[in-house]
Amino acid sequence: MAMAGEVLRHVTKKACTILYPFEKDQVFMPKGFRGKQKFDIEKCTGCGLCARDCPSGAITMVECSKEVTKTGKRPIFDLALCLFCAQCEESCKFDAVVMTEEYELAGFEKSNLIIDIC
Ligand code: SF4
Ligand code: SF4
Repeated sequence: MAMAGEVLRHVTKKACTILYPFEKDQVFMPKGFRGKQKFDIEKCTGCGLCARDCPSGAITMVECSKEVTKTGKRPIFDLALCLFCAQCEESCKFDAVVMTEEYELAGFEKSNLIIDIC
């Protein structure tokens, strides 16, 4: 009987949950949410600080032309290893890495989780 009363009390209340992904416009992102990084190669110097400081080894520095970055190296981000701690954003002194609110990262291909300019 106690359960019936509980059910009746909630029948008229608005649901706390939303019908994701059908009500995406109602998704609330808390302040400071850390989603997929946005990487700007135009700002990147190839210093490698992001890769050095990444706690999970999600960033690999690879060779590229010195016309692309000062050092001739650029980072590749592997979101399959990423903890979304934002240390890369913190370490980059050139604002080349910025955490965004993008959270829909599920996919069928692992390659979709790689952030690379090439
Ligand atoms: S958010 Fe953290 S774990 Fe992910 S790439 Fe940046 S430093 Fe590495
Ligand atoms: S993203 Fe920033 S920290 Fe990483 S290599 Fe480029 S300039 Fe350096």
